[in-house]
Amino acid sequence: MPPFSRSELLAARQCECRAWLHLRPRPTSQTATIELPVKGVGGPRPEDIAEVRSLARALHPGGITIAQTGTWEDRANRTRAAMARPEVAAIFDATFVADDVAVRAGILARDGKGWIVAESKVANTVGEAQELDVAAVGWVAAGAGVAVTGLRLLHLDRDYTRGDGPVDPAQLFAQSEVPFVDFGDDRERLLRVAAAGVEPSVTPGAQCSSPRACPFQDHCIPDPGPYSVHLLPGGGRLQQELLKRGISDVRKVPSELRTNPTQQHAIWAITEGKEYIGQGLAPTLGRMAWPLRFVDFEACNPAVPRWPGGRPFEQVPTQWSIHTLSLGGQLSHEQFLHLEDSDPRMAFARSLVSACGNEGTILVYGAFEATIVRQLAARFPELWGDLDQVHDRIVDFQPILRDHYYHPALRGSFSMKAVLAAVCPDLGYGDLAIQDGFTAARVWLRLVDGGTGREERERLKNQLLAYCARDSLAMVKVREALMRRGGISNVG
Ligand code: SF4
Repeated sequence: MPPFSRSELLAARQCECRAWLHLRPRPTSQTATIELPVKGVGGPRPEDIAEVRSLARALHPGGITIAQTGTWEDRANRTRAAMARPEVAAIFDATFVADDVAVRAGILARDGKGWIVAESKVANTVGEAQELDVAAVGWVAAGAGVAVTGLRLLHLDRDYTRGDGPVDPAQLFAQSEVPFVDFGDDRERLLRVAAAGVEPSVTPGAQCSSPRACPFQDHCIPDPGPYSVHLLPGGGRLQQELLKRGISDVRKVPSELRTNPTQQHAIWAITEGKEYIGQGLAPTLGRMAWPLRFVDFEACNPAVPRWPGGRPFEQVPTQWSIHTLSLGGQLSHEQFLHLEDSDPRMAFARSLVSACGNEGTILVYGAFEATIVRQLAARFPELWGDLDQVHDRIVDFQPILRDHYYHPALRGSFSMKAVLAAVCPDLGYGDLAIQDGFTAARVWLRLVDGGTGREERERLKNQLLAYCARDSLAMVKVREALMRRGGISNVG
């Protein structure tokens, strides 16, 4: 049987059941073959991972890389041979096998008395999960006889600002020391779970989300049912209090805890099984200055700043879509998409100012657009006045809905996708290639990548335009439907 991996060791540390589910595809007669749902967990882009890794390795010029071919033992032997050469100061992808576990160290750097194990992370903060990653590598390396003198994490320094030239790795990374951890008990647990014939019985709890979100939550955590207090919006504190009192049914929430208006509306809607429309909703939507511009932005946030003046993971707006509803009921659409691999912000800001004009209401959904406009104004003093008047006309649709609307189908979420599905179920995102902002950011980076061919660029461009346009159209349609249900004309 091949050795266990680091992720299997860490799964055993987090939860026996997670380890069992993780091991399930292993080719042993003792593991089940049922298909389990695995919740998708978004992670860094492969391109970001490769770039960060390469920049971290640039901190160790002359380091040699262990080829990842052959068996784990082959790679471990190559690593040992490289470590025996005194002129080798750093080894990349150093491989170790000990106590039935195999690991790969991103960076193994020689220091005076031994070796430092280091890992680079595509993140600007690190926590327990990332520390355990490198600690597990250090534990196995020490078990294989390496004198491990330190464990180190490299992550992107959020204060780093790229200059005019190439990225400087010495400035880009922040480094932190990581404590050593003994994984002996976790290894024992892993061996026990691997030998078990049935899935361990584990009650879901804090371990399901810490130190890492478990991908098997859909398997273990039952559907809460239509009256669960877990379906209340923004209910963290309320839910804790209710669960402390043993109350899991929305219909049994005592009156003294029904103080938050949004939760009151939700309790009513869930209990009655129908939507709640507050009397103030339609008048609030109806008293806005015309024309109404429904505005949505998309942005990318590359891990390593791509252009001078950029910072790690900074949100850089790349496109906007504006649906404009005139007083007479006419709907028109304008859009902007930056198509070059260059900083889009100036072109974005200028085109936005021009499209927004200087009158009417700018309706957005959430705080993102107003934040971006503020950042653009701070960045471009010459556009400050224009962007400031755009900012002053922004009205956030989301808190209006929170104050005046609830539908049981929202299941606690006021995201535009949840609201659209509840209010206008015929207009969803199911027909689009891109269905969320996270994907849109990745697609934009692919669109402007020099290696993307013309046809592919055209396809990606159309996908991005369609997605952003749907986001702004969604607001138009939700407003229209709610105005109608509130008995007020959609137009002036
Ligand atoms: S969801 Fe929770 S209980 Fe289930 S495997 Fe994951 S950590 Fe264990």
